[in-house]
Amino acid sequence: MVRKQIEARGIKSPRVLAAFRQVPRHLFVSEALRDQAYGDYPLPIGEQQTISQPFIVAEMTQALDLGEDDRVLEIGTGSGYQAAILAQIVFRVYTIERKHSLYLQTRNLFDKLHYHNIVMKYADGTKGWQDESPFDGIIVTAGAPQIPDVLIDQLGEGGRLVVPVGNQHTQELIKIFRDGQNIRQTNLGGCRFVKLVGKHGWKDA
Ligand code: SAH
Repeated sequence: MVRKQIEARGIKSPRVLAAFRQVPRHLFVSEALRDQAYGDYPLPIGEQQTISQPFIVAEMTQALDLGEDDRVLEIGTGSGYQAAILAQIVFRVYTIERKHSLYLQTRNLFDKLHYHNIVMKYADGTKGWQDESPFDGIIVTAGAPQIPDVLIDQLGEGGRLVVPVGNQHTQELIKIFRDGQNIRQTNLGGCRFVKLVGKHGWKDA
């Protein structure tokens, strides 16, 4: 998976590649889907949600440009795979999920796999996590209708935000870099995510 789907498509960060070699993706999908866990596509994880395609996880992680002392916020825990990748690289991962069943299931998995540097919350992640801010990186793993200003406000100096923005059919992966009072924005290309639902997201699924 790493060589053909990730390295071959231009992911170069040694930290990201090492994280992908360490996290057993098959443990983040249901037993029935285990033989497909390393395929080049997203898979269902219940509650009409999906674990993202490996390449998109790698692309977003690389775009965050993370270091070992960083604190990162993820919105949309889902299966926990993206959070586990982040946890290999950074000091601490904060992750928020709004579906209670997914929250419980993934919290149990993190306990079982001894991911002690992942902190979870069951809440509407579109509001961010004010008490733990500012963050070095924020990653949104569901599609937002617009760039959520609340999340930009929770970035520290030099902080990076990666978020898919658009409608149900077409979304662009946007990277925001906070440089003092300036906000720099780049477009990383097309993508497709389930909806980000909440106060500063879509109103319903
Ligand atoms: N990062 C996940 C991708 C899961 S799909 C993984 O690696 O598996 C997107 C997830 O975002 C779903 O679990 C969905 O319930 C969650 N989500 C959608 N809107 C949300 C919100 N406002 N706050 C927190 N989680 C949200």
